[in-house]
Formats: sequence, structure tokens, C-alpha cells
Amino acid sequence: MRDAPLRLRFAPSPTGYLHVGGARTALFNWLLAKKSGGTLVLRIEDTDRSRHVADSVEKIVQDMRWLGLEWDEGPEVGGDHGPYFQSERLEFYRKYTDQLIEQGKAYYALETPQELQAARLAARKEKRSYAYKRPDPLPTCEEADAARQEGKPVTVRFATPGKDLVIQDEILGEVRLASQEIEDFVIQKGDGWPTYHLACVVDDELMKINYVIRGQEHLINTPKHVALQEALGFSTPRYAHLPLIFNMAGAKMSKREKLTTIRERLGQATKGYKAGTPEAEGFYSKLYEVVGGAAVVDALGEGKADEAILEKFATFFGLELPEVNVHDFRLGGYLPEALLNFMSLLGWSAGDDREQLTLAETVELFDVDRIGKANARFDRKKLIAFNTDWCQKVTPERLVEGFGDYLEQTGSPMASAGAAVKIHLLSVCAGFRTFRELESKCGPLFVENDRIVFNPKAVKKLLVRGDRAGYKMLAKVLPELDACPTWSPKELEALFERLCADYDTKLGNVAQPIRVAVTGTNVSPPIFDTLAILGKEKTIARIQQCSSLQEE
Ligand code: GLU
Repeated sequence: MRDAPLRLRFAPSPTGYLHVGGARTALFNWLLAKKSGGTLVLRIEDTDRSRHVADSVEKIVQDMRWLGLEWDEGPEVGGDHGPYFQSERLEFYRKYTDQLIEQGKAYYALETPQELQAARLAARKEKRSYAYKRPDPLPTCEEADAARQEGKPVTVRFATPGKDLVIQDEILGEVRLASQEIEDFVIQKGDGWPTYHLACVVDDELMKINYVIRGQEHLINTPKHVALQEALGFSTPRYAHLPLIFNMAGAKMSKREKLTTIRERLGQATKGYKAGTPEAEGFYSKLYEVVGGAAVVDALGEGKADEAILEKFATFFGLELPEVNVHDFRLGGYLPEALLNFMSLLGWSAGDDREQLTLAETVELFDVDRIGKANARFDRKKLIAFNTDWCQKVTPERLVEGFGDYLEQTGSPMASAGAAVKIHLLSVCAGFRTFRELESKCGPLFVENDRIVFNPKAVKKLLVRGDRAGYKMLAKVLPELDACPTWSPKELEALFERLCADYDTKLGNVAQPIRVAVTGTNVSPPIFDTLAILGKEKTIARIQQCSSLQEE
């Protein structure tokens, strides 16, 4: 059995974008599948209709593809063990639930959610832990039917075997859950749909999964799954639970990272405000205007805010939200190579302090034995350093492809620039940390002239200061540029050299005012490249525009 080819699965729930924790799980499963010559199944666990978010599957599929983590069976590729959406597999779950009921290993439960909630509250009041108490006698099939007739929800619970549940984890070793910690859990909900536990166990069996890699947050579920497998006569896969991922503040990384950031910022902003005071009212009315009303702020307080709303708060506060989803990193200007390399080290190490690894090298070196037990730390600075290195390491073709993807995803005006221009800028700006950084440096070259945003500090320092020396320089250089017959970085360099000699001044004194005039800022690609890419006409027009907008 141990030698059977491995069948692994990545089983996301479609509750939104693929976050880094999920992506790390996908990656480790993919690595083991590749390393062992096994099969990776992508299964969509969509039985919790209340948490279902539209378009999530498309997003997950897109992000997996962007990372290059292809699957062998699953949505869009098919396979012999489908369907791969749990919502299309209800007949299987019903069949096994019925089997468990028939064998007396599961039973109907008739309590309403309100009754269960009341029992929980009573336990809390009496300071004792709550566990569902198995009814005696168990409700019969007729009683369940009658309850349904009355419109009451009828669930099915698994009769736990009443013994300690033990699993052998490939990373953590023996994990034991004492019998009193396991209550009779629900396997079929009131709406007739299976719970995650049942669906997962049935599918792992029917899809012949023999190795499960998932996050440690699921460790609590595993003994339940093993108990269900035993009750159903299924085989038990090998389990490897990956260490949790913590942020640098020492809290578990979660999808809620963005929400927490905004809540903290809102808390700081409103600290000391008293309700009803003009100060508070003024602040809130501005906030409501941007985010869309008081109800939105209340929803945020309750932890209910989708990505679009979070972005509105971020705009209001001028905040950059921490990237948590794979898609955020794509929009943040990271290369998938860098993100993969970084994620592979969240819990795993290659040994020998080797960290910079291609995906092929990671496959080669990957071994579950080298996955640690300790929490992994999501060090964003390290990820940026990785990205900086990767951007210098990949081939120019790959770099321009990655940059092109970034520009398209973000809708940058630079997306329409020709490949040669992009390649040139990537090379003259080498050393950039992210595509986002590069784009903000080069972006002004690709907007309409009247869309340039002048940075007040740069204008003051490089144009106004010193008796308007910068503006005067623009006036002097303009006819020289206008008279320049050829327009290439080389010719421009020669021209600027001559001007420096004529004016007996340093290059910076000539170039910086021009840089501000044509880009609005003091940061741009090298000046000769900047002007060459802009072309003569635009350069002249922009200098004239800047001069005519002279600030006092
Ligand atoms: N659907 C579960 C999740 O998204 C994964 C369950 C599993 O790997 O067993 O967290």
C-alpha cells in the first residue's frame, strides 16, 4: 500500500480569493505529487452554501494557474473520479449517511438551532464546557419525518465511538484526541446537505486519496475523519499537517488581515472622539461619503466587509492594505517564481541554508521529513528581497512577460507600450523591488500630457527654489532640445554634456528640472532614456506645459 502512487488533493472552499495559506497547501501537495510521480486532484468543497462567494472558483483556478500549480484531475481538466465539485456529489453523501444510519452509527437529531444555542449559553453561564448530549432513546425515522412535516430542521449526527481517537501524523507524530473532547458531530445539515466532515471523508475515499497535506488548523478535524473512515469501512490516508503561518506581529495570518488593519486605523482615527461632537460628526460624514454610509461602517465593525469595501476604507485613510491573497501579490507586482520560492519555505527547508530555489530545484529537494512543526513566519521584507532577486534572475523574456501580466492586471496605461520599450525600461531600471515600484517610476511616460501629476515637493525643490533656477533652466534648454536633430539616448547624452559645459554646471542641475517637467516627479528612469521614450514632441510639449503652469 505504501508504495502505491500517491494521490493528493487540494480542496479549497470557494469563499473568495485564494489566500497565501491555501496557496501554500496547494504548493506542498503539488510538490509532493511532482516529486513522487503522483496525482494532484483539485476538489471544490462547496457544500456550505452560506459561505459561497460568486466567482471564487474562477479566481482560485486563475491564481493556481498564475502560480503554475496545475492539477491532474479536477475542474476544467476532468478525470475519472469526478465530479470535482462537492455540490454535484450529493447522492454519494446521502448514500453513506443512510448507510451509517442503518448501521446505527449515525442518528437523526431534532433540536432546533435555538435550542442548541440555549444549551450552549446555559453551559457557559454555569462555567462548564458544552458538548452535545446524545438523546436516549434516539429519535426514530418516523419522528424525524414528523419533525420535517412541521417544518423543523432535522440533522444527522455521527455517533462517535466513545474512545480516544489517535492519528499518526507524518509531521507531528502521534496526535491523540480524548474521547470526551469529541461530541457527536453533525454529518448532514438541516437542509439535507452534508457537512464538511462527511463530504471530505467520502470524497477522499471515492477519489482514492491516499495522502492528505493540509494546514494545522484542520488537525482538530482529523480524528473525526478517521473515526468516520473506520465507521464506513474506508481506508485512512496518510496525513501531514502543515505548521500555521504567523505574521510578524505574532498573530496567525488570516484572510482577515486587511480587516484588522482597517479596524485598527479606524480605532486610532476616532480615538478620543465623543459621539455627537462636531469633531466626530465631521469625521464620520467624510468617511460615510467615501465608503457609502453608516451601515457600511457598522458592517465593518461586525467583521462583514468584502474586498471592495475594504478598498474604500483604504482609500479614505490612504492606507496600503497588506497582501494576503495570491491575487494581491499579483497586483502588488510580484513574480510568481518569487512567491512560490518564498511560500515553499513557510514550514519547509531544503537544508544547507539554501533558500533561493527554482521550482524545479524545490521539487528535487522536497521531502515531507523536512517540514517543521514550529509556526512559520510570513516575513514580508524577505519576500520583497526574494522578488528583487528573482526579477534580476529570470530571463528578459520571462521578465517582460511577467511585467506585461502585471500591467494588464492593473490596467496600467503602460500596458500598451511595445515589448522593446518594456524590455529597455526593465533593463535600465534593474534593481527594482516590485513591478508596482517600476510602474510608478515609468508610468508618467505613458499618460496623456495633461494627466501628469506634479509632486509639490519636487516642484518646490527642483523648479522654484533658488530664485526659480529650475524654471529658468527649462527656458534655456527648451530651444536646444527643439533644435536637436536626432533623438536617441546617446544623442541626448551628448547634448546634455555640451549644455553642462556651456552652462558650467552639473548634469543634475540640467536634468532634474527637466525630469520634473516631463514626469511630475524627481524619480524616473535615467533621464536620457526617459526623454528618448517620450519622444521629441512630447518632451517639448511637457516642458512648455510645465513652464506655463509656473508656481509662485
Ligand atoms: N475545504 C477546506 C478548506 O478550504 C479544506 C479541507 C481539507 O483540506 O481537508 O479549508
